[in-house]
Amino acid sequence: MRLEDLGWDASFSSAFEPFERAGLRPGRISRTDRRSFRVLTGQDELHAEVSGKLRYHTPEWPVTGDWVVLRGDSPVIDTVLPRKTELSRKTAGEQTGKQVLAANVDVLFLVTGLDRDFNPRRIERWLLLAGECGAQPVIVLNKADLHPDPDWAAGEVRQLAPAVPVTVVSALAEQGAAELIRHVRHGETAALVGSSGVGKSTIVNWLLERDAQLTQEVRKDDGRGRHTTTSRELIPMPGGWLLMDTPGLRELQLWAGEDSLDQTFEDVANFAAMCRFRDCRHEGEPGCAVTEAVSGGDLDEARLGSYRKLQRELAYLARRQDEWAAAEEKRRWKRIHKAMRQGGKRL
Ligand code: GDP
Ligand code: ZN
Repeated sequence: MRLEDLGWDASFSSAFEPFERAGLRPGRISRTDRRSFRVLTGQDELHAEVSGKLRYHTPEWPVTGDWVVLRGDSPVIDTVLPRKTELSRKTAGEQTGKQVLAANVDVLFLVTGLDRDFNPRRIERWLLLAGECGAQPVIVLNKADLHPDPDWAAGEVRQLAPAVPVTVVSALAEQGAAELIRHVRHGETAALVGSSGVGKSTIVNWLLERDAQLTQEVRKDDGRGRHTTTSRELIPMPGGWLLMDTPGLRELQLWAGEDSLDQTFEDVANFAAMCRFRDCRHEGEPGCAVTEAVSGGDLDEARLGSYRKLQRELAYLARRQDEWAAAEEKRRWKRIHKAMRQGGKRL
């Protein structure tokens, strides 16, 4: 396995340059356990400790998914290379204010269940979290077997953020895996987040089982077991991507303690529905019911503020998604041209 298969890219490589000149080597954290770490180097999976200069639970403290610089034979983690993305939890009452849970996640599957807990407003909040993290969001509607019309539900969700991919699966019926995995490219890392009970563990087990079957086929002859993979939190999958599954991510909840999710912006949305113009931005347009509600004291100005923040985030995500789509289209044409040069082989 090469470093590239683990997600190593030009930006990590250039950040690593000075360390390379000093004879050090890079690795990627596959599991953390208080002060001890497991690191994938491409050749091995090593055990490492942190150097004395890293302070416990600061943002520089290594987390699963981090690329780190290793020093010595029984290696010590010297430095954490700058992260591409960072999933963190706001911590109450602490000076630092955030605890980093995972690093360098490229694709974030936002899982919700299509059962009676189905709640598009909650998906908006998960989208916001993906925006803060920097990962590409993919909305996963699980438990399709429990919904009379999953495609209708998917359509509803698409309206929230038209440019974010929505995919429908049933982990229980083992349906939709290929469609799900399609969103992760070679060397990319994907993680699942979502409220408790939506089926994250079931999806992970399902993907791993599928992985085990594929792996058995691939490795029929070399007799190597999969004994180490089960305890990993960062798992190289046979399709060439990495699945991240840490206890912290499974338990990640939306802004616990902040306003309850069930009432998320429904108040603002109800007023907005009464604005004269359908595309009202509530910034002083005539006939704006939202501004009216604020000046009449029926709507808290701070609520309007966070509503706007969400809208901005969703617009930002839509723009990002457009860029991704354009890049994907470019790659697709590159593949097509390459195949044409190779003589019309089927893609
Ligand atoms: P997590 O808390 O997000 O990890 O959720 P779990 O994976 O523990 O799943 C919660 C419950 O939902 C379990 O009882 C699962 O069997 C059930 N579940 C998960 N996926 C599906 C699905 O696709 N269809 C149905 N009907 N149930 C599911
Ligand atoms: Zn308005």
